[in-house]
Amino acid sequence: MGRYIGPVCRRCRREGVKLMLKGIRCETAKCAMERSWRSSPPGPHSWRRRKASTYGIRLREKQKVKRYYGVLEQQFIRYFRIAERAHGNTGDELLTILERRLDNVVCKLGFAPSRRAARSAIVHGHLQVNGRRVNRPGFLVKLGDKITVRPSERSQKLIRAAVGDGGGPAIQPWLSLDAAKLEGVVNAMPTPDDVQIPVETQYIVEMCGR
Ligand code: SF4
Repeated sequence: MGRYIGPVCRRCRREGVKLMLKGIRCETAKCAMERSWRSSPPGPHSWRRRKASTYGIRLREKQKVKRYYGVLEQQFIRYFRIAERAHGNTGDELLTILERRLDNVVCKLGFAPSRRAARSAIVHGHLQVNGRRVNRPGFLVKLGDKITVRPSERSQKLIRAAVGDGGGPAIQPWLSLDAAKLEGVVNAMPTPDDVQIPVETQYIVEMCGR
């Protein structure tokens, strides 16, 4: 399956939760999930649909996480296999890996208004990790990694516009931001509590672990 280029808000309506895919607009009253007449699942006769099956419930949980982080099936399964081999709880390990993705970190630092915008900034080479340019949105950050902006005028201007004066949403405790220097640091590994949408990881493990 290729990249999704259809209406983004449709994905939130499908999953029944705000996936925060459009940046600032998601915080406003213009969000489709804030309007009762638009927050129902997409498609005709959505109110007539039957109760979801056991499989359907598990599938929706997996799709919700994939859509929130913007990862495709193959990559998601790869992360799941890594989580399975780890020592801890598979579901928690999976969420930790997804949280460590560079596009997620860049978005949470406020360097981009959404994960999609963060991916674009990374692919276009505006970001560095520990002084080296990284153009893979799926790069997994480690403890102590320093995320900075390339010194070029274009990169600085782009990210500065997104960060503003640093007075945006609060940065999560596992990250820290120096807004003046446009520098973020990974102070700790994320935990499942840092995920900003409700996720039943057990359903995902049951679905993918078969
Ligand atoms: Fe659209 Fe964002 Fe609201 Fe989702 S959270 S429905 S992407 S505006």
